[in-house]
Amino acid sequence: TRPQLKDNTLIHDHAFIQNNWIETPTKFAVHNPATGALIAEVANLDISHAQDSIHAAQTALPAWSGLTGKERANILRKWFDLIVANADDLAAIMTAEQGKPLAEAKGEVLYGASFVEWFAEEAKRVSGDVLASTWADKRTMVLKQPIGVCAAITPWNFPLAMITRKVAPALAAGCTIVIKPAEQTPLCALALADLALRAGMPAGVLNVLTADAEQSIAIGRVLCGSSVVRHLSFTGSTPVGRILMQQCAPTLKKLALELGGHAPFIVFEDADVDAAVEGALQSKFRNAGQTCVCTNRFYVHESLYEEFLTKFALASKKVVVGDGTQIGVKQGPLIDQQALEKVQAHVADAVAQGARVLAGGKSHEKGGLFFEPTIIADVNHQMLVMREETFGPLAAVTRFSSEEEVIAAANDTDFGLAAYFYARDIGRVWRVAEKLEYGMVGVNTGLIANEVTPFGGVKQSGLGREGSKYGMDEYLEMKYVCLGGM
Ligand code: ADP
Repeated sequence: TRPQLKDNTLIHDHAFIQNNWIETPTKFAVHNPATGALIAEVANLDISHAQDSIHAAQTALPAWSGLTGKERANILRKWFDLIVANADDLAAIMTAEQGKPLAEAKGEVLYGASFVEWFAEEAKRVSGDVLASTWADKRTMVLKQPIGVCAAITPWNFPLAMITRKVAPALAAGCTIVIKPAEQTPLCALALADLALRAGMPAGVLNVLTADAEQSIAIGRVLCGSSVVRHLSFTGSTPVGRILMQQCAPTLKKLALELGGHAPFIVFEDADVDAAVEGALQSKFRNAGQTCVCTNRFYVHESLYEEFLTKFALASKKVVVGDGTQIGVKQGPLIDQQALEKVQAHVADAVAQGARVLAGGKSHEKGGLFFEPTIIADVNHQMLVMREETFGPLAAVTRFSSEEEVIAAANDTDFGLAAYFYARDIGRVWRVAEKLEYGMVGVNTGLIANEVTPFGGVKQSGLGREGSKYGMDEYLEMKYVCLGGM
């Protein structure tokens, strides 16, 4: 059962190499997590296809990098326009294969498109530098050049935006790219490839390798092991990030890794509690808690603790759970059974150690992969939920009494992606923002990401930043030229 689109030709079950649609004798199934229904059977590529796509990207590189930034910008801009024009269809594909509610899916399409727009603009602004020379008879300068063939391995939780956030800066910089989307959500990637083709993307510049979990591992090895591929950008779990980093060591590839998080959310005694509850809902239940910047741990000052809990529990009970195609639904299913079991395990472990369940706590009565928006209180750092990324709709809340204590608790993790806090005192706002060991800090807001700002983590949450005026540097090399004999 495929989603009904305005343009049904956007659904593809073949992979995309060198602007050709590639069929294979074996396929893998893509299911709708809300209904369990089969959506499509997609080409299951192998390592020979990975080699073909690297070759295609390598062949396309001289002409693509030889275009002016403005010429590349024109094609990217057309791609952006087509993504926006087809936003409803892309959202329908996304809800079908990933489960997030339609409105949220459309939000992701526009968010994803914004990177294409932004980097199309930035493509025109890649400039070198002339440095003051210490030699009277020499001139010294810096050129910025595309790094070369790139690879991107992307996750299922943002099936579209995690692709554009990597592909747009790479292509803008003059690189070519091979994309290996998540096996759960290949259809968004293929629809994006179709729109790139319609935008006039030359053959080999953008390639999409679809594969099941097993072949993804084999293809990953080829991409990491290739000396032609000069850059790997990965978004996914920290354990897989470590594997890929090791596999890239022999060829000393440049790496961008956006890995797991374990975001703390702190509500200080001078916070606006209602605003904090609203931010908590956004940061926790978006995408059913399946984002790397979702809050995992809530720390609430003891003076507001019960008030915050009461309001948060009340609000969470109003979150409508169901099939994302239905109007009013705010939380879709989890991606698969394993994801559901992880949330159940975190709840059970916390309850066994004395946590109080204030809302939800179990599978939703709709069954399948639906889980109730859940709030548990009185948690501590011995519990799994306070140490491991839950990636589900479970909010774990504890109390604190001093600023010093809560900063130490918030930083007591190997992760360092996003952190949030609510406070009004300006001195505290600066102090806490500076002391949190995270790549991104939201102050009095639970939503922080856009194309203009640098997204990324510290510690074991990864390497590099995506988006923003800094995001293009990832895909550029600096070349120092010394001109003598003047
Ligand atoms: P998640 O836990 O969110 O599914 P993963 O890190 O397992 O995240 O997967 C993210 C992406 O990495 C997917 O595209 C998946 O196919 C790919 N992947 C998973 N394991 C490997 C591996 N060993 N080598 C290469 N790619 C992998």
